[in-house]
Amino acid sequence: MTYATQPHHCTPVDVQYHARFPAALISAALQRRGLKDTDLSAIETELNITVRQAMPAADLTRVLARILGEDSPEAAPRLPHPSALPLSMEFVSSPDRAGVLLPAYPVEFSAALKNRVRERDNQTCRCCGLRKGDMYTNAAWDRYKRVRGPVKIMQLQKLQVAHPASAPEQIDEAELVSLCPRCHQRKDAVHNWSAKALTQAMSGQLTAAALAERLTHLTRVTGEAVTDGTRPLGALQPGGADLLAAVLADREMPFTAGSARLILPALENEPVDDIRLVLAAARERLRLRGLMMPSGFHLTRMLTCPQTEWPAQAQFLPRPGQEEEAA
Ligand SMILES: [Zn+2]
Repeated sequence: MTYATQPHHCTPVDVQYHARFPAALISAALQRRGLKDTDLSAIETELNITVRQAMPAADLTRVLARILGEDSPEAAPRLPHPSALPLSMEFVSSPDRAGVLLPAYPVEFSAALKNRVRERDNQTCRCCGLRKGDMYTNAAWDRYKRVRGPVKIMQLQKLQVAHPASAPEQIDEAELVSLCPRCHQRKDAVHNWSAKALTQAMSGQLTAAALAERLTHLTRVTGEAVTDGTRPLGALQPGGADLLAAVLADREMPFTAGSARLILPALENEPVDDIRLVLAAARERLRLRGLMMPSGFHLTRMLTCPQTEWPAQAQFLPRPGQEEEAA
């Protein structure tokens, strides 16, 4: 998962500065793409820009963006999906930020261990192949996050060491992987979206349609993850499990495998004990966040969606008493 404490290891390239002497930056970008100087000439002609010392920064950005291309994370080889359940209870409340859970990393998850993993992976992202020091544009990633903005030229300073099973206590070197920040975030997208939706729903900032969309998404990715039978609940990362638990509590439904399957039908194929464990872990995280009553069955605040009409495709059951209203 993407933790609140996770530093961003990519920094924007100071194009303004490099525009005074662009040769080194251009040649690094060409090398990244396996291109030659002759290819640069074609690009210069195409863009009607001449690469020279003290060129305009905007021109240098266009040339670099053209050389680096879309760099689409979608086109990259897919990271093997997490195979383990997000059963971790190893989270602690942040002393500074209410409601924020931090991973309780064991001391063994040390800088030395992380460096060994990075070295083993040849300082390369195991998902998209981006190497330490590589430049890239954030265009494709911004599209993925639905962010609109100018193209940024980025450089990967350091690979992140990720837990594919979303279990902070995991310190088995063989299980850890080096990822670039983009792939790490993409791996945790369901978790992040779900956690955000939960926070928003509990503060009345999420419409019913948006919550339904999140749950539909969760249903889809959970279904995909369990299809091949080797990935039990793989997509139900902590955020997803928390959202599921919050919906159960909000609907005043018992925390049973049966209830969970009503919300996420794909769980039909999963062992009852696994679902129970996931729900127990989610309940504990909600409690640690102060979102669940100490009894562990009622939310401290109900999910409040400023919209009474549930979309027809909503995957979850209506609130008690709401069924007749909607009909
Ligand atoms: Zn990557």
